[in-house]
Amino acid sequence: MNVLVINAGSSSLKYQLFDMDTKKVLAKGLCERIGIDGRLTHQSPFKDEKYKENVPMKDHADAIRAVIDILIDKEWGAISSMDKIDAVGHRVVHGGEFFADSVVITDDVIKAIEACIPLAPLHNVPNLTGISACKEVMGDNVPQIAVFDTAFHQTMDPVEYMYAIPYEYYEKYKIRRYGFHGTSHKYVSAQAAEMMGRPLEELKLITCHLGNGSSITAINKGKSMDTSMGFTPLDGLPMGTRAGNIDPAIISFLCENEGKTAEEVINILNKKSGMLGISGVSSDFRDLDAAINEGDERAKLAKNMFVNSVKKIIGSYVAEMGGVDAIIFTAGVGENDRSVRWDVCEHMEYLGIKIDPEKNKYRGRQMDISIDWARVRVFVIPTNEELVIAEDTKKLAEPLLKK
Ligand code: ADP
Repeated sequence: MNVLVINAGSSSLKYQLFDMDTKKVLAKGLCERIGIDGRLTHQSPFKDEKYKENVPMKDHADAIRAVIDILIDKEWGAISSMDKIDAVGHRVVHGGEFFADSVVITDDVIKAIEACIPLAPLHNVPNLTGISACKEVMGDNVPQIAVFDTAFHQTMDPVEYMYAIPYEYYEKYKIRRYGFHGTSHKYVSAQAAEMMGRPLEELKLITCHLGNGSSITAINKGKSMDTSMGFTPLDGLPMGTRAGNIDPAIISFLCENEGKTAEEVINILNKKSGMLGISGVSSDFRDLDAAINEGDERAKLAKNMFVNSVKKIIGSYVAEMGGVDAIIFTAGVGENDRSVRWDVCEHMEYLGIKIDPEKNKYRGRQMDISIDWARVRVFVIPTNEELVIAEDTKKLAEPLLKK
């Protein structure tokens, strides 16, 4: 069974085609500048070089057509015809309180995703556009599945997800913590349980998805118990360009003193803050590391603030769960930046956490990096959100295809 995974943004669309019998990626790529001019970058596992071409894409349907054309291309493709795509899995960012799991997309599902637009306008609108583009190009007979970033966190209790603002705002607007990166937290927690040879239902895990966007989740007995991102992805840790958790009074102060609207300030908190805002150098940890090596104090401050926030959240989740069996590092920073992992776990021996410096040298490899005697395992587990989407898609589409 072949599954096409789609992650549609406002002017971009990422895709991966999976053979779900082998779980292998048959091809993957990216459409960019949709609605502007159009550019396609495509990769086949059988070729070293990438296919990069300007392809006109006036809308997402054109992008999907370009994806299918290259997937069935004799030289670059992976399948002989569009019929060989059995189902499509879409990453959808916000499922609100409607979705605690992945679903087959129906008219009612589309209505519910539309109802979540006010919660994530920058994401859900392009996600819906991706869904309708696939429908337009591939027809109604190919099952389409939605996999939500928020779904995994729907197991949180009100104690964790409510903000202490008047209750009516929850009732009226559904203002609460939702959490994001759910597919990634779910994937790495399952991998960790497998590596430990123990059922997830027995484990207390803390998964640190540290990338350009970062979030940490407390996973108790396989369920998301608490997570650091909130109503939007702006909450929690300071990130590449996001401020993370700040005193909300700063917003009105800046509006008044900088003559800005609340929306402009939120934009600054999303795009010009975090590592970039503090260091003035970059949002990218590789650039921060280079600047730190040159003696840049603000780059050092930015990275130290990040590490300190990760540590504080880990500490609070250990307290909340009443212990921890393993800590997992994933995503661009978590998989690659050994100094972040080292600094986060430093001085945590009292909790049973101790990294082996030799094992910590590796990058991007699934492995246990804790020293042998440590009570708490520390893992690096490269995330694979696309595989989770493909697996959920297979599970939900297969019964429909058999009919
Ligand atoms: P996104 O949140 O966009 O999915 P990723 O998980 O791909 O981001 O993470 C991207 C970030 O990972 C980069 O901005 C950079 O800070 C960090 N990163 C990637 N490679 C390395 C590396 N070798 N060393 C340190 N940091 C890295």
